[in-house]
Amino acid sequence: MNRRSLFVASAVALAVLGCHDEPTTPSVEIPLESASRPLEGWFHVLWVDPAPGYGPATVRYELVDKRGHGTELDFDPGVAARWGGPRGLDGRKVRVDGTPVARGRLRVRSIEPVAGPPAAAPSAVQIGSHPYVTILCKFSDITSVRQTVAKYRAWTTGTSYPGLDHYWRQVSYNKMNVTGSKVVGWYTLPHPMSYYSGPDYWDTGSLLADCAGAADADVDFPQFYGINIQVNGEMNGRSAATIGSSWTLTLDGQTKTYGVTWLYGRASIATYAHEDGHTLGLMHSSGPYSRTYDSQWDVMSWDGPGFYHENWEHIPQHTISYHKDLLGWIPAARKLTVGPNTSRSVTLERLALPGSGNYLMAQIPMYNAPGQFYTIEARQRVSYDDSLPGDAVVLHQVDPDRGDHLAQVVDVDNNGDPNDAAAMWTPGETFRDSANGITVAVNAQTPTGVQVTIRRNTSGLWVSPTSMSTPRRALAVTVANDSIYVIGGANGAGTVLRMVEIYGPGAGWTGPEAPLPAPREGGNGAVTLNGIVYLAGGQNALGGLTRTLYALKTNAGSYEWNTLAPMPAYSACGGSAAIGGKLYVFSGCTRSGTGAQINAGLLHRYNPNTNTWTTLKPAPVTHFRPAVAAIGGRLYVVGGENGAGAPIGRVDVYDPATNTWSTRRNMPTARMNAGAAVLGGKLYVVGGRSGTAYLKTVEAYDPVTNAWTSRTAMPTARAALGVSAAGGFLYAIGGRNTTAALATVERFTP
Ligand SMILES: [Zn+2]
Repeated sequence: MNRRSLFVASAVALAVLGCHDEPTTPSVEIPLESASRPLEGWFHVLWVDPAPGYGPATVRYELVDKRGHGTELDFDPGVAARWGGPRGLDGRKVRVDGTPVARGRLRVRSIEPVAGPPAAAPSAVQIGSHPYVTILCKFSDITSVRQTVAKYRAWTTGTSYPGLDHYWRQVSYNKMNVTGSKVVGWYTLPHPMSYYSGPDYWDTGSLLADCAGAADADVDFPQFYGINIQVNGEMNGRSAATIGSSWTLTLDGQTKTYGVTWLYGRASIATYAHEDGHTLGLMHSSGPYSRTYDSQWDVMSWDGPGFYHENWEHIPQHTISYHKDLLGWIPAARKLTVGPNTSRSVTLERLALPGSGNYLMAQIPMYNAPGQFYTIEARQRVSYDDSLPGDAVVLHQVDPDRGDHLAQVVDVDNNGDPNDAAAMWTPGETFRDSANGITVAVNAQTPTGVQVTIRRNTSGLWVSPTSMSTPRRALAVTVANDSIYVIGGANGAGTVLRMVEIYGPGAGWTGPEAPLPAPREGGNGAVTLNGIVYLAGGQNALGGLTRTLYALKTNAGSYEWNTLAPMPAYSACGGSAAIGGKLYVFSGCTRSGTGAQINAGLLHRYNPNTNTWTTLKPAPVTHFRPAVAAIGGRLYVVGGENGAGAPIGRVDVYDPATNTWSTRRNMPTARMNAGAAVLGGKLYVVGGRSGTAYLKTVEAYDPVTNAWTSRTAMPTARAALGVSAAGGFLYAIGGRNTTAALATVERFTP
């Protein structure tokens, strides 16, 4: 029988299955080979767990039509990115356009949700009764069965240890049960095993339809949450696997999305728990490696040897705290979320049979990876957890944006085994993540848990919260109306830019907008005075020095640059700052009498009230590309290159009250083309270049003590960057290192 006629046969079977509520004559599917119109149906993600030796875990996508017929979809998950990826479409009615490929599969070109009543997608929270009907089906060519009906009944409906109703009640702290579950069968399927599965195909939809159809007279389907399809063969090739999923079916007059599992003969009660876990919406957890079934701490990873029970084969251990929390089983009062700059000593109760009152889990956000976090849980060898590797605190690192294995065991010896001592934290041991300022010290065991001290200090940490739309170096930055204005610079190709982007913490980026009257880079930074952004001098698109002064009113409703009085001298390679309502511009380079660019130490002051410039006393030495900022009513010119082209750490300070310069203690690191900003009364100098090396180091100057201190280095070495202080944070923006220009932004908490 070829696959085309198989589809016709399964369509007939499905029509028979639904005949008492939809008395239509059997219709023939349009063979997929000729399909070119968009197809509509419900989209479902299938978690395919191969038998040992049959390859890695896979994910399969199915488009299920109104008769329950499935078409397997081949597609790059990126095609669904705008809908939140495949998981965002799971259980939703979709329209799919694609190209038929071998064996009735469809290569997807586009997929989108369609209007209309959405399918009842599985909810993230699973509370209350979730009855499953387990349907035992024999292939027409196989008579032997591996387990008795009584055994399946005890597994799937058992209310004492070890039975699934008892299990889910214990695992969920009585939030969920499978009361009302039922076993029916054995039924004999209309076809042999080879009809449904072979070395390289598996018609899960037909198997579901035929098995459910055989049981239809004995089962009122809509009263069940899920359907377990238990067969009596072991399957082979890519179908030698068990599957947990959802599937939209019209049965007994109702269209409903069911949790559905496909279970082969060798399935144990632990297999049921794992696959039913998928139907509840759980993915896998794992160790921090590329394997799926390696963590003995979670039934959603390991359902293999080690959890052996004489009469029951493998016993399911608990699932991890992250999964219990996802499903709504951890009461809010028993979950500790650790805020910044916090130290907490608490007792964590073990996940299996916990004592009352204390926390069941702790969650610690990772400062340098927004959205990611650690979970901390206590595990002890009791009841379903009696075969765990040990009694210990176990940490998982969770990234909700991973496609699978969202939670991964923290295994500090990185030896490929997440079940050994390096994954088990016991009294006297301390976990440390210095990049995130986190320590977890295990103090002592209690009869039903463990005492821990959790510290989280975000002070002095860097994070990478965002990127600009355009990489740029030698840019200007300033803060106006609590937003950071990023102005001009050169992109990766060296093109000098006019464009402005605006970053509002909490609001993200807007722009590009408000283009400069002309391209500018490598200038003197930008300064905000009374809501007006000023940009003085800089290099034009050809690299020539300029004298222009551009001004942008940021609070006028419309963004438009004005051109004001030009500077008295050509100016770039410097910096600027506001003191006493006036703009001070330090020129690190200017034009000689012959028009050539020369290093300089010129200082000019602009008065916005009169639109006039004043030439002030020049610095005692030249500073080419220094860091410039104002603090305590004085202008600081820090580092840069001296006249011989060497980076310097020299600090020259201008006092407007006396029109004089003085020196301060040298910056420890000689550097040029760094960025500077003032935060908390200190002048921070960030990155830059020392000779040929790009720097990530940060040094802070305290004008009160005339002392420099070293602060945490930023993650990315960079020079020609913009540095800005906003909202209590320090931002390092763009610049360059070995690449031509950077778009990334990094943020420091002092
Ligand atoms: Zn699985």
